[in-house]
Amino acid sequence: MTARILDGNKIRDQIFAELKDEVRLLTAAGVRPGLAAVLAGENPASQLYVKSKIAACEHLGMASGLITPPATVTTLDLLSTVEDLNRDNSVDGILIQLPLPPQVDTKRVLEAVDPAKDVDGFHPINLGRLVSGRPGLVACTPAGCMEILRRNGITIEGANAVILGRSDIVGKPMALLLLHANATVTLCHSKSRDLPEVVRRADIVVAAMGKAAYVQADWIKPGATVLDVGMNRITDAKEAEHLFRKFPEHLEKFRDKGSVLVGDVHPDAVNTAGALTPVPGGVGPMTITMLMSNTVKAARLRRASPRVSASQTTAIAR
Ligand code: NAP
Repeated sequence: MTARILDGNKIRDQIFAELKDEVRLLTAAGVRPGLAAVLAGENPASQLYVKSKIAACEHLGMASGLITPPATVTTLDLLSTVEDLNRDNSVDGILIQLPLPPQVDTKRVLEAVDPAKDVDGFHPINLGRLVSGRPGLVACTPAGCMEILRRNGITIEGANAVILGRSDIVGKPMALLLLHANATVTLCHSKSRDLPEVVRRADIVVAAMGKAAYVQADWIKPGATVLDVGMNRITDAKEAEHLFRKFPEHLEKFRDKGSVLVGDVHPDAVNTAGALTPVPGGVGPMTITMLMSNTVKAARLRRASPRVSASQTTAIAR
């Protein structure tokens, strides 16, 4: 059996088409959604991420702004920047690109963001709303995983869902979202015992550990749905050859580029799972997609009149 591939790029395109319509309507009503990104220092990976987030805003017709304090920025400087953005009515979403420079108190900066503009869903107020099942802004990667499940018609209610990884930005919010959707949830971490046996009982597996190909194909219950959040870059030729011995197209990519991405789930799981997100092209594209969705949602909730809000028809779970 070969798993159905859960294509994140396809869902991103669907959601972007819906968001484009919503941005057009909101803009016509005088509310052009806007995202402000704060990028401290010159981390090349962070620069690339922020660039693609701003490009997504432009693609959707949203406003965007970029603030680039130097790597020597202090916590107080950043708190003052966040205060300015909180006060700016044209800014609907504030994105603090992580990691911040080591001298900065990251938690203090993130908690200074107005919860109504917290489009990353990291603020304790939004986390509290998620715990109690009330509407709020939800962390983008787990929200994206839920869209993948829903838009592919995968049954969540009553399913045994096993999440590997309990981080604040992926594992914990994922567990709450699945619980509110009536799955029976098991949340595993590095001290969990008998991981293979726990995973074998899962109808839905969400792997978010940051361990390359750790979850073996024979841990997956035949027919289960696997969401592979992990993004691990392999640069060792022997490791790449071992992992992708059955996938010549991946090996070719490795030979071209000198590296290849692998998830937390072994590539061979495609022969046991019923449905599976590829790496890359599965969960990855959903994170920026949900950041855009959260920014549009924040604009609608904070600034749009009830009449404009009621006319929105996007299918995104809100
Ligand atoms: P993280 O903060 O490092 O958390 C990793 C979690 O995995 C921890 O809870 C850890 O347990 C658990 N873990 C580590 N080794 C384990 C093991 N052997 N067995 C069971 N659990 C284990 O990671 P994260 O930020 O959630 O990210 C996880 C992965 O997702 C990374 O590869 C990251 O690059 C990727 N990611 C992708 C996207 C995307 O857009 N696709 C977005 C975010 C993250 P303890 O708590 O006990 O230490």
